[in-house]
Amino acid sequence: MNSGKLRVIVCDPLEAEVLDELKVSFEVEVIDGSSEDELCRKICDADAVIVRSRTKITRKVLESAHRLKAIGRPGVGLDNVDADAAREKGIKVFNSPEASTAAVAEYVCGAMICVARKLNFADRKMRGGIWAKKECMGRNIEETTLGIIGFGRIGKRVGAFGKALGMHVVAYDAFADDKMRTEAGTQGITMRDSVMEILKESDFITLHVPLTDETRHMISARALAMMRNGAIIVNASRGGVIDEDALSDALSSGKIGGAALDVFEKEPYSGKLTALDNVLLTPHIGGNTTDAQLAAGMMIVEKLRAALK
Ligand code: NAD
Repeated sequence: MNSGKLRVIVCDPLEAEVLDELKVSFEVEVIDGSSEDELCRKICDADAVIVRSRTKITRKVLESAHRLKAIGRPGVGLDNVDADAAREKGIKVFNSPEASTAAVAEYVCGAMICVARKLNFADRKMRGGIWAKKECMGRNIEETTLGIIGFGRIGKRVGAFGKALGMHVVAYDAFADDKMRTEAGTQGITMRDSVMEILKESDFITLHVPLTDETRHMISARALAMMRNGAIIVNASRGGVIDEDALSDALSSGKIGGAALDVFEKEPYSGKLTALDNVLLTPHIGGNTTDAQLAAGMMIVEKLRAALK
């Protein structure tokens, strides 16, 4: 088969709409679930490859890729692609983290309300035949202070939702510049100069930073001790940002009023936080919406078109 179009191989499941869009510009072959050796054979005359999180694009695979110009990975993260080996061969690597911004920000809002109103706890009790009306006294969100740590794509969107809920919103970003400060100002959000200020003044804290040496265990026992009594914390960023043992102690003692965690140091998670009532635990689903998945795929098609023009 030679259509004159550049050849793209797709190694993990993609939505039918994304495949149709891809076929407009490229000759497409789907090789779902191939072994490394099979992939080495298939990739030798491909111009681009698309993977999700399952297929690994290793150095060995890239050594067989004689024509490859681009690797597309819909969504966040590039853990399954040997980016160094790709760079050495001049192969461009793309992902589309921007596609899940709305999904994660909406998750954070939902999780915040869920914990503040004890919805998950109430649901668990009712399923066990208990009408726990008295134990389910919640708190309002309006007029409370939301502290955002990491004011990037998702942090900014959460800030807008916080304002819409009538919250006072403060934010900290280690790389805040004048543009970010102005943008925050026009949203009615105040930038702070340190994490400590956010910890001390917020009723709700939400984390939107990458996992780096600086952010690992940013929320430590010391940080939790600085937070307001009964504060609620949400983490839909990366697991290692919170010290889970310290959080478990702070939740058990009542120092921290509640938490919603979508990400964990080790996933799948099955640790001691599962024994606590005042915590909402979800299996890394912040970006898991059909709309985000579709948008992630479509963005990769656009990026491949631009790169292979
Ligand atoms: P982004 O790069 O747009 O924003 C991150 C922000 O954090 C940047 O503004 C950066 O300056 C800031 N930052 C970096 N180091 C910092 C530090 N030490 N202190 C304070 N701020 C710091 O990223 P994003 O798209 O907003 O994603 C944020 C996080 O959400 C990432 O960790 C990402 O992996 C995670 N995420 C999770 C899900 C999910 O399913 N739960 C989905 C998508 C993204």
